[in-house]
Amino acid sequence: MSFVARLLLFLFCAATPALAIANALAAAPECPAIDANDAYARNSLMHYVCYYQASPGEPAHSARRPGELPESLEWSSARGHDLTFTQTRSVYWIRLNVRNSGNERRTWYLNLHYPLLDEVTFWWSRDPTDVLVTGDLHRFGSRAINYRYFLLPITLDSGESRSITLRVHSSGALNIPLKLESPEELITASNHLAMTHGLFYGAILVLAVFNLLLFISSGTAYYFHNALYMGAMGLFLLAMGGYANQYFWPESPQFANLSIPLMLVICALAMSLFGRSFLEVEQGTRAYTTLKVIIWTCAGFTGLTLILPYSQTILYNTALSLIIIFVLSFIALNRWRQGYQPAKWYVLAWVIMAGGALIYAAAAFGYLTDFLARESLMQIAIGGQVILLNYAMVQRWRLLNNKLLEVEQQARTDLEDKVHERTAQLRSTMRELENANRKLAALSLNDPLTGLYNRRHMDNILTELCAESRRTGQPLTVTLLDADHFKSVNDTWGHGFGDLWLQQISSILCRHVKRPRDIAIRFGGEEFALLLPGTGTEGAQKVCEAILEELRTTKIEAPDGKIAKLTLSAGIATLLPNESQQTLFARADRALYKAKSRGRDQVVLADIQCI
Ligand code: GH3
Ligand code: MG
Ligand code: MG
Repeated sequence: MSFVARLLLFLFCAATPALAIANALAAAPECPAIDANDAYARNSLMHYVCYYQASPGEPAHSARRPGELPESLEWSSARGHDLTFTQTRSVYWIRLNVRNSGNERRTWYLNLHYPLLDEVTFWWSRDPTDVLVTGDLHRFGSRAINYRYFLLPITLDSGESRSITLRVHSSGALNIPLKLESPEELITASNHLAMTHGLFYGAILVLAVFNLLLFISSGTAYYFHNALYMGAMGLFLLAMGGYANQYFWPESPQFANLSIPLMLVICALAMSLFGRSFLEVEQGTRAYTTLKVIIWTCAGFTGLTLILPYSQTILYNTALSLIIIFVLSFIALNRWRQGYQPAKWYVLAWVIMAGGALIYAAAAFGYLTDFLARESLMQIAIGGQVILLNYAMVQRWRLLNNKLLEVEQQARTDLEDKVHERTAQLRSTMRELENANRKLAALSLNDPLTGLYNRRHMDNILTELCAESRRTGQPLTVTLLDADHFKSVNDTWGHGFGDLWLQQISSILCRHVKRPRDIAIRFGGEEFALLLPGTGTEGAQKVCEAILEELRTTKIEAPDGKIAKLTLSAGIATLLPNESQQTLFARADRALYKAKSRGRDQVVLADIQCI
């Protein structure tokens, strides 16, 4: 980068003034004339150029015209090198003797292709009034030829010779690259450059706008910083190349001069901001504090640039930029070492930019004399840097995206695990609930003391059994059994002993009710029922007699040691055609009542008349 190179140049020359390029060139006794028709000679123009560096205080420094120069002035030959000088307050006089050895009158252009010179004066004839004063301290609009570089037309008759003199004065580092070109050569070179510059600046503009749009749509700050960096860098290069002066502010030479250090400091600010957000420098770290100080310094320098003269601001801003490049490279290397992958591309981008700076420095020291090649190489270096920075951003975006996907995947897996876990819990709870329900249902239909079905079950099942019997024509017999004088058992030996009898009765009932569909029920205190589907009155009577007989012979030792006995009375009714469940039950009950009234311990068959 030019600012890096400028600083290198300053530092280099401050440390070793003896190495200043101008001083390194040996003095030459005379300036040989160049034949402008000779293309080969034109290509090695700098072998024909002589110069004189006039330090302040010398008569040549205060001379305003070639005629005011001392006769004894010792001109030096450029010896084929571009004229490059460090920052100096000297005035430079340049001389070129041109001859047209051709047969016809022709025009050539002396092209001084360094647009940042403050003041350049051309004299092209013996008449001192034939003068062209230009430079970037003058309005661009005042130039005779609308071109970003300084052009001096030289028209020579056949065989005519001219001595051309230039006086150059500028603040800042000084380059005086010269070319002597035919109009055709000038147009061809200009066309080539228009193409490459158009592509370069177009690409920078597109990337800057793209980053700006990314910033607007995503709100991510470093897109804006990158856009700002590219915008400022583009303007800086346009100003350095003379385009900004030609197209953006041709009427404002003050701003043209101000724009270069201004764009430089904005570049520095943007790259610090971009580096801080892109490299994810964490708050509270030393790197973060350093960048914060740098960013505020940039802001301060931006203000100073508007106040201080160009010769100072260009120096300060260049130094600041160099420090920032160093600090950011250090932080980026550190981040890379910490495993932050996008930092790798960022470092590479800076390396390419440093390569560009070295090219510029090499050119500034006279090792790369082709000014246009230098400009193109610089553009390639900056183009490479910009592309790599954008690629680094893509890498960072990819990294963030992958992280996001990982988090999403993890969240999904966690959610699935949780759903599985909850589903399993739910299933087991439902199973427990079903079991509990089953138990509850069983409990609600069973008598807890004897384990027989209870009254509720009898009510449910009897309706079904009646309907079935009516449908199939199979008999259905209901038997009601009641313990005789049970109250006295309780009264004599207590409820516990009574309960024992009730359990005894139920086990006798179970033993006698053998058919799979027969049901024994305890439907009241000491009252039992047998529902016998498919069994007629006779069969039921037999079963009842057997039950009564077994109970008659059953003896249980009472708590007082006495032998206790118990009997049952039973009433039997078989379902009549078209008889309701209630009537059937009532007939059985009446039969039981009869058994009681006839002396108990007996089985009575119900009347077959409806009640
Ligand atoms: P009957 O021969 O006329 O049927 O006379 P009974 O004493 O058996 O009839 P009653 O209806 O007068 O008395 C029924 C008794 O059954 C009253 C009550 O103390 C007893 N009892 C009812 N439920 C239970 C029970 O669950 N356990 C016990 N131990 N006794 C019960
Ligand atoms: Mg009773
Ligand atoms: Mg009884």
